[in-house]
Amino acid sequence: MVVVGSLNVDVVVPLAELPAPGQTVLGTADHRRAGGGKGANQAVAAARLGRRVAMVGAVGDDPEGEWLTGLLAAEGVDTTGVLRAPRPTGQAIVLVTADGDSTIAVSSGANMWLAPEHLAPSYDLIASARAVLLQQEVGAEVVAAAVAAAGGLVVLNPAPARPVDAATLARVDILVPNRGELAALAGAPAAASPPGPADPAALAGLPALARSLGTRGPVVVTLGADGALVVTADREWLVPAERVDAVDATGAGDTFCAALADALLDGAAIDEAARWASRVAAVTVTRPGAMAAAPRRAEVPAAS
Ligand code: AMP
Repeated sequence: MVVVGSLNVDVVVPLAELPAPGQTVLGTADHRRAGGGKGANQAVAAARLGRRVAMVGAVGDDPEGEWLTGLLAAEGVDTTGVLRAPRPTGQAIVLVTADGDSTIAVSSGANMWLAPEHLAPSYDLIASARAVLLQQEVGAEVVAAAVAAAGGLVVLNPAPARPVDAATLARVDILVPNRGELAALAGAPAAASPPGPADPAALAGLPALARSLGTRGPVVVTLGADGALVVTADREWLVPAERVDAVDATGAGDTFCAALADALLDGAAIDEAARWASRVAAVTVTRPGAMAAAPRRAEVPAAS
């Protein structure tokens, strides 16, 4: 599997409650540094499930970049495709409460320096990989170029929310948005993606939005603790989330995407893959951190 995407250093600040605009909230414990970025998180999550994974992206030519690349390599991820940019390594400030709520601000740095021409040394790899997994913390042109070059299964996690061009969407085999990202892709008003628990009326509009995008395979809409809605051309159904005590939901979506791709590579049908992904993501939710919380295959409980 090849992951094309972002690598960040996460500065995680534990708080009793998230600050409102203009408010300063003192942390409840020391901050900590962790590997992050949706791309790196997904690469590590897939590697921990036992996949052979190559990461394509960029870090800065700085100590943070060195540290991050070393972290991925220690997880068994091939970092040959991680370039050194003349920009700082991406940084994310992650504010997280004991309840698992989080607010994240990202300084993209090297991730947004990455341009399609920088992918040249990795195009053969992208073309020959059985699966390419992408997110949107790198430029839209980079995502489009990598998707166009892909020869295998293309899994796009369109996070954070931004529109995707029609030609790219048409080449996506599995799209994994949350509700907000789905609304952004479909050009739907924000009212189509209300925050909070999914009520049946709010979910009712999602299949039509998902089918309007023109992807060539299923759309799996993640709904946090409410699970994931799988939408195929002629059917939709909810895959419920596992019941767990949530500690920190950061990284749940990343682990979900990695596990989904993992199962699809094993030949699983989309329903089985989504059920595996929810079991793997649920473990992530019970542990602090994002990348650090991704489980090894043996740590994922058997289906109940
Ligand atoms: P999200 O990105 O928050 O939509 O979460 C992705 C996936 O992680 C969901 O579709 C669930 O399978 C799982 N997940 C997220 N939050 C929880 C939770 N509180 N409890 C159990 N599973 C969760």
